[in-house]
Amino acid sequence: MSSRLPPWLRELGETVQVDPAVLEAMDLPRERFVDSSFGSSALTARALPIGGGQTISKPSTVARMTDAIMKCRPATVLEIGTGSGYQTAVLSRLVEKVYTVERIRNIHLDAIRRLYKLEIYNFKALCGDGCLGWKTYAPFDAVMVTAAAPAVPPALLEQLAPGGLLVIPVGTERQELMVYSKDPGGQITSRSLGGVNFVPLIPGEAVGS
Ligand code: SAH
Repeated sequence: MSSRLPPWLRELGETVQVDPAVLEAMDLPRERFVDSSFGSSALTARALPIGGGQTISKPSTVARMTDAIMKCRPATVLEIGTGSGYQTAVLSRLVEKVYTVERIRNIHLDAIRRLYKLEIYNFKALCGDGCLGWKTYAPFDAVMVTAAAPAVPPALLEQLAPGGLLVIPVGTERQELMVYSKDPGGQITSRSLGGVNFVPLIPGEAVGS
């Protein structure tokens, strides 16, 4: 494990089995992604509120989901649920371009502002319904959904490139982190990475706040 990592990430590396490059990419000022009133707790292992009843995923989940999609060495990633932009920032350090979709306008705008402040520019952000993916830029080498859906939105599987991986929490009361892979012939297979707890993916038009 790299000794350059701050203690919270070194500890995380001892609890989750992920590529060290993922932990290095997570070495961002997490406090800059949450409301300033949560400043001191931003560097803990908990999920944190980001406004509008939404949360920034806990670091172990960010690490596992990122590690899962990096297995296909993606150059482009579609992220559904921009939220604070933390996951977008992590991905931006590992891939060429991140496409991220958020349905709540204020959250979407705040995330863009935060990412620019951190001098992160290799992303495109859309305010809209992520259940529809982002057709203009499809197909994507990998897709990551950071809100739970009752089932995988078909558009997201369609917009996944052959050889690609899609990671998504699936379920309502009980959620499982699922990884779908599309083989070069377009066949889909899936496996579970275990139980998780995400806010719901809400279909429909974008809303203000
Ligand atoms: N990845 C984020 C955490 C996401 S929380 C981070 O790193 O901070 C889940 C986000 O998904 C919320 O911001 C929520 O508004 C958004 N969301 C829910 N349903 C959506 C939909 N249909 N399309 C796009 N975003 C959606």
